[in-house]
Amino acid sequence: MNSKLLKLLSLVLFSLLLVSGCGANNESKPTVSSTENSSSTMTIATTFYPMYIFALNVAKDIPNVTVIDMTKPSAGCLHDYAATPEDMKNLEGAKILITNGAGMESFMDKITSQMPALKILESSKGIELIKGNGDEGDNPHVWVSISNAITQVQTIGDQLAVLDPTNATKYKENTTVYIKKLEAQRDKMHLALDGLKNRDIVTFHESFPYFAKEFNFNIAGVIEREPGSAPNAKELGETIDQVKGLKINALFAEPQYPPKAAETIASATGAKIYTLDPVVMGPMEADAYINIMDSNLKALKEALK
Ligand SMILES: [Zn+2]
Repeated sequence: MNSKLLKLLSLVLFSLLLVSGCGANNESKPTVSSTENSSSTMTIATTFYPMYIFALNVAKDIPNVTVIDMTKPSAGCLHDYAATPEDMKNLEGAKILITNGAGMESFMDKITSQMPALKILESSKGIELIKGNGDEGDNPHVWVSISNAITQVQTIGDQLAVLDPTNATKYKENTTVYIKKLEAQRDKMHLALDGLKNRDIVTFHESFPYFAKEFNFNIAGVIEREPGSAPNAKELGETIDQVKGLKINALFAEPQYPPKAAETIASATGAKIYTLDPVVMGPMEADAYINIMDSNLKALKEALK
């Protein structure tokens, strides 16, 4: 092979590497003089995973608009989560913070007092909330219903268009496109699930009331366990008794629930364990919410047939 060509090729490869390296670095650098040159860069932050996926879609393909997720909670959901110094650092340079609201983010006081200029966009505004169990407040898992997700995406699109008028048209276009996809997924799920006779489901965490309401399932029992932590022998025994008492043969664990514990419960009770995913962690890509809902559809069809 011609050595000149080889040299040229390696030069091209090398500069490509340089370019991608810079791109990766940019994310952690604070935005320079963002107040003076507001049209050049815009960082939109989100409080956790589902908000990040929605914002990715609404801000898709808009030059100089970056979406970042500020937290990395180990169990996905933000219950009692305290924003860490790294989380607060991630917010530096962001102009807008998209929250779920409905009581999910308990660290908002810290943010509003430390960053008074940050615009807060509460996406669950206007959604009718379901009361939590016992003395708990309202159930915050609104996004697990596709209809609520659509409302949240619409709110995010409308508000971003107001807060960042330069890109208003693009936000609105993206919102329309994404909502069409969400509606198609909801239709597909109704078509597959509405005819099922068995409507009772048992879950491991209080994530599914909005989903159950949307698709007309009855949550016969919730086996409350801390997501991400393995139950001890006593708790496992109690859970096994509960499952036997409910006389139900399909249980829905969340991906965050330790699979070993689920297997123990399954073998002790004869119930089969399936996975229902509340979309609190997963791939950081635009289609993730829809893909996860599709996996939930498959699990429900398999479990309740
Ligand atoms: Zn949760």
